[in-house]
Amino acid sequence: MQHQLSLLPYNTFGLDARAEHFAECRSEDDIRTALKSGIRPVFVLGGGSNILFTRAVVPGLLIKNSIEGISILESNDGEALVEAGGGENWHRFVLWCIEHELGGVENLSLIPGTVGAAPVQNIGAYGVELKDVFDSLEAVDLETGETRHFDKATCRFGYRDSIFKQEAKGRYCITRVRFRLTRHQHKINISYGDIRNTLALMGKTDEPGIADVSEAVVRIRSSKLPDPAQIGNCGSFFKNPEIPAGQYENLRSAYPDMPHYPLPGGLVKVPAGWLIEQCGWKGKRVGNTGSYEKQALVLVNYGGATGEEVYALALAIIDSVKSKFGISLEPEVNIW
Ligand SMILES: Cc1cc2nc3c(=O)[nH]c(=O)nc-3n(C[C@H](O)[C@H](O)[C@H](O)COP(=O)(O)OP(=O)(O)OC[C@H]3O[C@@H](n4cnc5c(N)ncnc54)[C@H](O)[C@@H]3O)c2cc1C
Repeated sequence: MQHQLSLLPYNTFGLDARAEHFAECRSEDDIRTALKSGIRPVFVLGGGSNILFTRAVVPGLLIKNSIEGISILESNDGEALVEAGGGENWHRFVLWCIEHELGGVENLSLIPGTVGAAPVQNIGAYGVELKDVFDSLEAVDLETGETRHFDKATCRFGYRDSIFKQEAKGRYCITRVRFRLTRHQHKINISYGDIRNTLALMGKTDEPGIADVSEAVVRIRSSKLPDPAQIGNCGSFFKNPEIPAGQYENLRSAYPDMPHYPLPGGLVKVPAGWLIEQCGWKGKRVGNTGSYEKQALVLVNYGGATGEEVYALALAIIDSVKSKFGISLEPEVNIW
């Protein structure tokens, strides 16, 4: 166990917070040993790509999940059941699947972070969410030290949401995740125009394979999103709000260009990035932080920003979107 450790290398926002006590765990037993220290509260850290540290010191015990390993548990002609350790790098896992001709996660290429964190917010991109390929997971209960199995229904996945962001928040460390992936007969999803256009540029319009889709996604993401190695960020800072259809209709008369996506159940999804841009934040710098010039939804650290500074900017953005549109933005990023 380490003490007063700088978290600078452990978060993609590039914030220089410290962990009071820090235990890197490579197995379930390592987690149980760390828990026996009795140090509380306990927090779990993956790749630190979806966390904003707002305090100079994270109190208590920080467990860094470094459980590795990927294996095929079962397979037949149509599909395979694959298990990955919670500490595996997500994109490395995607590449492993593609190398083994296993389909379903290619649209989720290049999402930063770990396999263990992926179910927490049901990661999603380009028309695919983790829940579409999820089978089950194992997690260590941080209160009892026991291992618990969660099936898909128990995880209660929603849009960037799961039980691990609701009543089970902070209670478990997800140690292993199982996925049901296709073999040979893949269900290629190129519903997004960006993917089709990029495949066309790659000369792969004729029956693209999973490796082609992955490469297209990598190209798109690399051109649009800031690389945390160059400029600190956590990807989309806010969720896209889902508003009642009536509220959308009222707004549409004032803002006819407002992009919108009708959802089942009488809700309409509105892109948070558009709302933020309309409030004049896109590319605006405030001290050492700001809204990214190419994508207003991404807040960035220009160097030397504190978590408090980024959080103050997020609150100012929430306030201005609320007063202009009457819509309450919610952070997607976990505020610690
Ligand atoms: C440039 C960029 C682009 C991004 N693009 C996307 C995108 O397209 N789609 C998307 O969905 N997300 C995206 N994200 C957000 C982020 O990559 C995901 O949320 C990712 O799953 C976070 O993984 P992590 O290991 O870094 O989690 P962390 O940031 O370490 O943790 C996030 C939360 O999960 C909890 N947690 C982490 N590991 C575990 C575990 N093993 N058990 C229990 N709880 C755990 C933490 O306590 C914390 O509350 C992006 C981020 C960046 C920086």
